[in-house]
Amino acid sequence: MNLQSPRHVSVASVAKTALVVLIPLCLLTYLLAMPNRAPVPDKAEIKMEKPNDDLKSRLTPEQFYVTQQKGTEAPFTGKYNDHHEAGMYRCIVCGEELFTSEEKFDSHCGWPSFYAAASDKVVDTATDTTHGMVRDEITCHKCGAHLGHVFPDGPQPTGLRYCVNSASLHFEPKDENAKK
Ligand SMILES: [Zn+2]
Repeated sequence: MNLQSPRHVSVASVAKTALVVLIPLCLLTYLLAMPNRAPVPDKAEIKMEKPNDDLKSRLTPEQFYVTQQKGTEAPFTGKYNDHHEAGMYRCIVCGEELFTSEEKFDSHCGWPSFYAAASDKVVDTATDTTHGMVRDEITCHKCGAHLGHVFPDGPQPTGLRYCVNSASLHFEPKDENAKK
């Protein structure tokens, strides 16, 4: 680094350069910053919830891995894969009613499968291109927990197969549900 750079540049020249360079730069920075103002409240909301600390103590390591880090439980290992009781499957994270036993079917794929969600509004779908595949990821609309994927090879009436990790769900038997 040359510390002996010439210092004979006149003040007027420096001022002129500053005006020519800085004014458009400031304007550009201001314009670029404008659209970024909207997401700030979202970031603040996420920070307030402190999700990880709370969830790590509340969920098992597998439930945390699946719901928060988009993990997948090993096939045929989940507690609701071979489960046929009547009732409601709720989100393990927020308790939202996601799937009912009435839409559950035996897909033999190794994970609990449903041909529909409990309602159109409780599950969100987004394209997932990880692991060299193009799949439709499903998440809980209320809390964003990863649930699994949805495939177009399910039974009628929807033709869909919501392939869900047991680790994302908490089952509530129908009798218990009726008491509320
Ligand atoms: Zn949820």
